[in-house]
Amino acid sequence: MAVIGRSNVGKSSLVNALANRAQLAQVSKTPGRTRLLNLFAVTSGGTVVDLPGYGYAAVSKSTMSAWPKMIEGYLSSRENLVMVVVLVDGEIGPTELDVGMLDWIRDHDVPHTVVATKHDKVKSSHRVRRKKELAAGCTVDAGDVLWVSAATGTGISVLRGRVRTWLST
Ligand code: GDP
Repeated sequence: MAVIGRSNVGKSSLVNALANRAQLAQVSKTPGRTRLLNLFAVTSGGTVVDLPGYGYAAVSKSTMSAWPKMIEGYLSSRENLVMVVVLVDGEIGPTELDVGMLDWIRDHDVPHTVVATKHDKVKSSHRVRRKKELAAGCTVDAGDVLWVSAATGTGISVLRGRVRTWLST
């Protein structure tokens, strides 16, 4: 399975939280830092691929041009890719780049699921509405989006369980 998302979405923090390690994936102080493709072996079997964050700030009109060719090639030709976790920033919701990525993934029939990060950054009084809005922006049902927080641990064990299930199929 692979994890993908816009730079600064909280991908490294999430991978670290999933692995229960503080510095497995490097958390970048500077957005857009994670450029390498990192692989993590899961003890129960399978591999988690941490793909480079796509596009930051300068969003071109043609979203495709903002994605490294490597990501496209990887996602479209990897036969043993069982799931792509598409991270969306829960605080700010799906950006144009995220929507472009989801469209591309759907066009290419890549199995995927949306996970919203930084749950702790959304005020509890705004959560019900934000969850609906984020899901609608991603064109999925609200119940199909898993919300997580690397900071508080919300949703981490649920996601860990799903990772095990995906990797055992
Ligand atoms: P990446 O570029 O997608 O790998 O994102 P990072 O993991 O480096 O995180 C980007 C910024 O968001 C960092 O300042 C993190 O500390 C912060 N961050 C990541 N996850 C969370 C979270 O769950 N809650 C909060 N409050 N901040 C987070």
